Amino acid sequence: MDNFINELKKLGYKGESDDSQETLEFYSHDASLFEIVPSVVLFPRDSQDVQTIVKLVADNKASNPELSLTARSAGTDMAGGAVNDSVIVDFNRHFRAIEHVSSAIAQAQPGVFYRDFEKETFKHNALLPTYPASRDLATIGGMVANNSGGEKSLEYGKTKDFVKQLSVVLADGKEYVIKPITKLELDEIITSGSYLGQIYQRIYQLCENNYDVIKAAKPKVSKNSMGYTLWEVWDRETQIFDATKLIVGSEGTLGFVTDITYRLVPHKKHSGLLVLFLKDIDSLGELIPKILEYKPATFESFDDQTLILSIKFMTSFLKMLGVKRFIKLLISLIPDGLQLLRGIPKLILMVEFNDDSEEAVRNKVKTLHRDLKSYKARYEINGFEEDPTEGSSEKFWIMRRQSFQLLRSKIKDKHTAPFIDDLIVRPEYLTKFLPELRSIIKKYKLFATIAGHMGDGNFHIIPLMKLEDKYERDKLQPAMQEVNKLVLSFNGSLSGEHNDGLIRGPWLESQFGKEVLSLFKEVKHIFDPDNIFNPHKKSDADWDYSFSHVRDHF
Ligand SMILES: Cc1cc2nc3c(=O)[nH]c(=O)nc-3n(C[C@H](O)[C@H](O)[C@H](O)COP(=O)(O)OP(=O)(O)OC[C@H]3O[C@@H](n4cnc5c(N)ncnc54)[C@H](O)[C@@H]3O)c2cc1C
Repeated sequence: MDNFINELKKLGYKGESDDSQETLEFYSHDASLFEIVPSVVLFPRDSQDVQTIVKLVADNKASNPELSLTARSAGTDMAGGAVNDSVIVDFNRHFRAIEHVSSAIAQAQPGVFYRDFEKETFKHNALLPTYPASRDLATIGGMVANNSGGEKSLEYGKTKDFVKQLSVVLADGKEYVIKPITKLELDEIITSGSYLGQIYQRIYQLCENNYDVIKAAKPKVSKNSMGYTLWEVWDRETQIFDATKLIVGSEGTLGFVTDITYRLVPHKKHSGLLVLFLKDIDSLGELIPKILEYKPATFESFDDQTLILSIKFMTSFLKMLGVKRFIKLLISLIPDGLQLLRGIPKLILMVEFNDDSEEAVRNKVKTLHRDLKSYKARYEINGFEEDPTEGSSEKFWIMRRQSFQLLRSKIKDKHTAPFIDDLIVRPEYLTKFLPELRSIIKKYKLFATIAGHMGDGNFHIIPLMKLEDKYERDKLQPAMQEVNKLVLSFNGSLSGEHNDGLIRGPWLESQFGKEVLSLFKEVKHIFDPDNIFNPHKKSDADWDYSFSHVRDHF
């Protein structure tokens, strides 16, 4: 790699490079269960540096086919999208500028942490509502590459719905602006014969020639992060061509994002929660659509296992929360203690409403409570709790958001194993789906709770396992196969938000079929014919490669 770095410098590269043992070890992991040690990590200072890197790799690829580039921002990817061999390009060190924020849009660089971005948007009473649960750790660039979503996606959609414009360095080592355009503008770009025009022409042809197949490939769920979102690129009715839909969610396999313009929504300041304790889950199929009619901002859930563990390890919350918040939590949990005397509920549903005034939130919470009460017997609800202000609902959010962290810290010899971490099926199937899912988890003796975005039918199941033990490791493949087959038999998607990476890339054919996978391969070939960007991911993934990189030490 020394020659490569020297060449880069000769070409005017201003950033740093690091191939120290410590750095390579750090960059060999993200939040997934994989490990791949890169050769070197680069820290470009600006777009020009990124262009220089890509150009040099493109020029050297023929003589050195192993050379590749994988982008990385905060490294919280759960699927292994941010790890690879060869060269890692870090965007988190220098791409941190927030260039422009108004109440309607914000322009910033991909390495900006979402938490910093939010501080700025809040100054304008505005919000990017697709933030992930990892909001304190992740960057807005990682959100683009994974097409992230979170608790507010139920109301607002995913990151792809908020990207107005991207600057992207493509495989020729030049930066291009990619945004939605009319057919007329598309024709102009194609006629210009530019590099981007040639790519657009081929993508447009691919969309036109396979129009019905592509439209039919869209997974029949409210959120999906698998594959390339081809079905949203070209629309014959609106005559809009939008290549941002391909870049968003592409895990940096088509090019590197260097600048992002996001659309924002007004930040509603008040929120309140109605909590439902379900005796059993038989009524879910009917209950969920009923609740969705009230248009909640979020609709989350956690199961009895989460509740039991949270109560069992209650004192450990002390450490996580600090004394003051912990005492508040204990006091506020007493009504629920009484509630629990009636029997541990199977499932806890949290229905949240947002609005500009506390009164409006209270009204929404009360109305849903009143209306559902009359259905109580039918829905087998054994309790409600109204928490019409943000402060009073904190305890439930702590259980929903922190219980997994808690579990992780308690079970010290086990590690998070995200391999069935993001499945999604339509909510009306949950009554049948969840018991079958539970029985697979039980069969493989996986130490896992079921929590997630109930309104979308999207669940994050992240077992704690000791993967260095052969016995535990051997469970991985068959358990994943059974769960994935179950999800697909319910017409679901294996990923609602976390994307494919090394763990789900090999499942693209099962998810979409041979024909659509071949279209994905063509997309990759059109953008990146020499496979420079993030190999072994998306349509280039294969299970043997992935499985051979599952971590065996921690
Ligand atoms: C506890 C926890 C909870 C999570 N909850 C959610 C959730 O609710 N919803 C959700 O969607 N995800 C979730 N995630 C996964 C992850 O945090 C998000 O997808 C996040 O948006 C990734 O951001 P990052 O900055 O860490 O990206 P990274 O992990 O650094 O990278 C993610 C992907 O983006 C690519 N990439 C990074 N920068 C660029 C760039 N400039 N150009 C092109 N490609 C690039 C990488 O190659 C990689 O494929 C969670 C993760 C954890 C650990």
